[in-house]
Amino acid sequence: MIIVPEREIAGLVSASDCFVAIEAVFAAMARDRAVNFPVIREAIGHADALYGFKSGFDRESLALGLKSGGFWPQNMDKGLTNHQSTIFLFDADTGQCRAVVGGNLLTALRTAAASAVSIRHLARKDARVLGMIGAGHQSTFQLRAALDQRSFDKVVAWNLHPQGLDRLAAVAAERGIPFEVVDLDRLGAEADVIITITSSFASILKAVQVRPGTHLACMGTDTKGKQEVEAALLARATVFTDEVAQSVTIGEAQHAVGQGLIAEGDIVQIGAVINGDHPGRTSDDQITLFDGTGVGLQDLAVASAAVDLAVRRGVATTVDLT
Ligand code: NAD
Repeated sequence: MIIVPEREIAGLVSASDCFVAIEAVFAAMARDRAVNFPVIREAIGHADALYGFKSGFDRESLALGLKSGGFWPQNMDKGLTNHQSTIFLFDADTGQCRAVVGGNLLTALRTAAASAVSIRHLARKDARVLGMIGAGHQSTFQLRAALDQRSFDKVVAWNLHPQGLDRLAAVAAERGIPFEVVDLDRLGAEADVIITITSSFASILKAVQVRPGTHLACMGTDTKGKQEVEAALLARATVFTDEVAQSVTIGEAQHAVGQGLIAEGDIVQIGAVINGDHPGRTSDDQITLFDGTGVGLQDLAVASAAVDLAVRRGVATTVDLT
């Protein structure tokens, strides 16, 4: 069994490695060749923790396994991140444990890769201004991955707590791109691409604030009740997602579908666009919205990439489990 510790991930796996892995697994999902199994998420009644599993199998890459972990709110006091995750990969032919991979950084990278894939396939080619809503832990990964997808010449950003925006300003400065903190009206009026990455439970961005031609990647809503954009915006947009079943239950589309503004059948798996089975954006004034809910297959895809890279570079630790 191969071990790839958390501390090795940053030196092993790049954002572009993750992009390739996520694009491939989304495509396999749309071909019905890769499947996510039901998610388990439980309050364990200890340390206020939420613990769970996301698992699946990709018959094309043979990635089989699960991501286990969750949220430990008191970890900060112990100098640890509140979100903890570890990815386990199994040999699809024998069921033997193939690898254990640190999953914290990989979670951020695979989530950023998902919105980057949506931008690559759905944003207008001439997109120049990137709008960021949210400035928490995930936001810098999102910003970095998005900046690689188009020739952005400006970043505009909004966060509930303005002080958090410094970290986004630092990434923009690193890339030499002008950065401005704006209100939501200006953000919607200027941005060609908008990423939402917050833990909000009420809509932040209203439909009227978004102009025709915008691409949105709504990445924060991954639980029942969370919401980042007004449901009416989904009715104005063509809605894409990683997995329709999650989009309508725990994703941004839960509200629009629940209110009868759109139907489950209106939502397109982004893999269909990647595979060429759906045209994606068809006009410059169409609003496209990617509802990124986060699936276990993404974790397996990037963990498999990490294992392959660790083996290739001779830094994999092998343990005999027999
Ligand atoms: P974080 O706690 O570091 O940051 C939270 C962000 O949300 C901050 O910018 C905060 O200001 C903002 N926020 C909180 N409450 C708000 C409100 N009421 N209105 C507006 N903004 C508000 O969290 P993070 O690690 O950056 O994660 C952000 C979100 O992304 C979370 O909801 C998390 O569950 C989700 N997430 C999704 C995926 C996925 O695959 N889709 C993966 C990882 C995390």
